[in-house]
Amino acid sequence: MKIICIGNNYKEHVEELNLEIPQKPLFFLKPESAVLRNDVFFLPDFSNDVHYEVELVIRICRLGRHIQAKFADRYFDSIGLGLDLTARDIQLDCMKKGLPWEEAKSFDGSAVMSSFTKLSEFNDVNDLSFSITKNDQIVQKSNSSDMIFNFCKIIEHVSRFMTLKIGDVIFTGTPSGVGAMKSGDSYVGYLEDKEMLRVKIK
Ligand code: ZN
Repeated sequence: MKIICIGNNYKEHVEELNLEIPQKPLFFLKPESAVLRNDVFFLPDFSNDVHYEVELVIRICRLGRHIQAKFADRYFDSIGLGLDLTARDIQLDCMKKGLPWEEAKSFDGSAVMSSFTKLSEFNDVNDLSFSITKNDQIVQKSNSSDMIFNFCKIIEHVSRFMTLKIGDVIFTGTPSGVGAMKSGDSYVGYLEDKEMLRVKIK
């Protein structure tokens, strides 16, 4: 299973990190060992600034490569919520030096994932609201309609470079409102109004 993650896919998040609006989807990978289901996340000792990033996550249901955007909706059939946990201090240092991001993005537990819901349960996949609360306060809230590159454009781009396989997942980028996690925090993620994931930080 591949975990593909899209970066810089919401305008206000790109602005809060002082980055440039991308001309094409930016993606990176996390290993399968990064997956954490609803559970406890232990802050790692190598970072002092691990951020939450809530994201819509789609699951690939069909093998494909060089998929055109107009056919891409046949290649994913379910959606969930995820947290792309990011060691922001390490990431910013890597970016400054032009180095790869793995230490900042691919550590154990950095891909928190909910269960998946069939797309057929929603009217319009390009109009799905989602949010996350930190200690019962909303810290990130957005809608799939706010993505710079929608699901189909993401699939078109990524599948030019790598074959998508059944069971692969794509984290589709985070909206604004990211921030550092502290021991004792608890996070609850919602897709539309349904609770999808719950994580306690230790
Ligand atoms: Zn992210």
